[in-house]
Amino acid sequence: MAVENLPDFTRPARQRWESIPADIRQRLLANVWCGQCRHEVTITNFTGTIKGGDLLLVGKCAECHGDVARVIEG
Ligand SMILES: [Zn+2]
Repeated sequence: MAVENLPDFTRPARQRWESIPADIRQRLLANVWCGQCRHEVTITNFTGTIKGGDLLLVGKCAECHGDVARVIEG
């Protein structure tokens, strides 16, 4: 997924996200833990914010469409 397709990132969150190499970003998005599926899933329809100095991605599980989140520590 291209960064250009992420309209719901705050500016600082986008800058943080863009500083991560593309292959790492892809990996981060593809192994988010889903508490309902009980395994790692791909996060979709996500937004990005900075919380407590960490990049917080909040979105939906690609499989069950439940809420999932990933914190990327700064
Ligand atoms: Zn799920």
